[in-house]
Amino acid sequence: MIGGGQLARMMVPAAIELGVDLRVLAEAEGMAAAIAAERVGDYTDTATVLDFAKTVDVVTFDHEHVPQDVLRALVDAGVPVRPGPDALRYAQDKLLMRERLSELGLPVPDWARVLVPAELDAFIAEHGGAAVVKTPRGGYDGKGVRVVRSAAEVSEWFTAAAEDGGSGALLVEELVDFRRELAQLVARRPSGEVAAWPLVETVQVGGVCSEVIAPAPKSAGRLADVAADVAVAIADGLGVTGVLAVELFETVDDRVLVNELAMRPHNSGHWSMDGATTGQFEQHLRAVLDLPLGGTGTHHAWSVMVNILGGPEEGQLVDRYPEAMANHPTAKVHNYGKEPRPGRKVGHVTAVGDDLDEVVYEARSAAAVFQD
Ligand code: ADP
Repeated sequence: MIGGGQLARMMVPAAIELGVDLRVLAEAEGMAAAIAAERVGDYTDTATVLDFAKTVDVVTFDHEHVPQDVLRALVDAGVPVRPGPDALRYAQDKLLMRERLSELGLPVPDWARVLVPAELDAFIAEHGGAAVVKTPRGGYDGKGVRVVRSAAEVSEWFTAAAEDGGSGALLVEELVDFRRELAQLVARRPSGEVAAWPLVETVQVGGVCSEVIAPAPKSAGRLADVAADVAVAIADGLGVTGVLAVELFETVDDRVLVNELAMRPHNSGHWSMDGATTGQFEQHLRAVLDLPLGGTGTHHAWSVMVNILGGPEEGQLVDRYPEAMANHPTAKVHNYGKEPRPGRKVGHVTAVGDDLDEVVYEARSAAAVFQD
């Protein structure tokens, strides 16, 4: 696995259970996945990545940032890369993603590629005076996403996009009037088998995911079917292998629109480790190893995951274990081993059960023990 963050770390127990020898190429010493880090190296350096790849059977990722030329060099050297460069490019570039999904006839917000401020102002004028501008590459957790009423609000982004080695274009989208945000996770193996977990509701605060409810309340039936069909069409259409997360908007007029794609285990699937027959980390391993996929059913009516954002102002998460464990014996705590810092995802808590209000309360109050 290339990348040593919390996703690589959470892959470790799944790999141990299956007896899979997981090796991690981490960006730096002491990262979340240090326990499995075979080596530390620069994932943008072809020689480093090729050298690492010699020690493994399959290469996969905990992030989407490995450059295309490095990915292509791996493929040319005969290394199975999952997901491969032809799929990953759509997770690396939001403009390419919008273009491809539109070609596939999948539901996306109204969008345009804009090269100069005048084009952006024209789009804003045609869409009720406001729009969402996104940098095509390198954004995460809401960075690189801005609601604007005038192109002047993102003038520095046009300059930066031109310097990025890209086309200099920005992505602009209609400001979607959504009721809530949803996510549909699926896993696909090279042979084509696909498995879908239940559709989930995600709650974002300031562009960062704070909570996930599985399954999404009031989603049984048409909504769940549409979301699963869309995600499977994307997985097949883009040839994704491994876990694919499709972030969706449920609009006030009952449409489902695709927002974002991630081709790896995703925050919106963390609940599955404790709430589903097969968690996303095990499923990702099965998928990239082209093994039959596991069941995606749930153990309980509801699973709720709450992120621990920032952590305690002083000390470490473990300092709060006595209080959390004494008061919340059914909550499952996941600690990423990261230094607490404002806004940083340092862990999460999952609660499961049959009464949604109780499960939400339990997950939120257990997570709150770790926050100041
Ligand atoms: P990131 O790369 O940070 O994941 P996203 O494209 O997912 O960026 O956008 C972050 C958040 O901004 C979304 O979760 C959503 O709340 C909001 N957002 C993004 N696009 C739109 C849109 N077209 N209309 C309304 N809100 C949007």
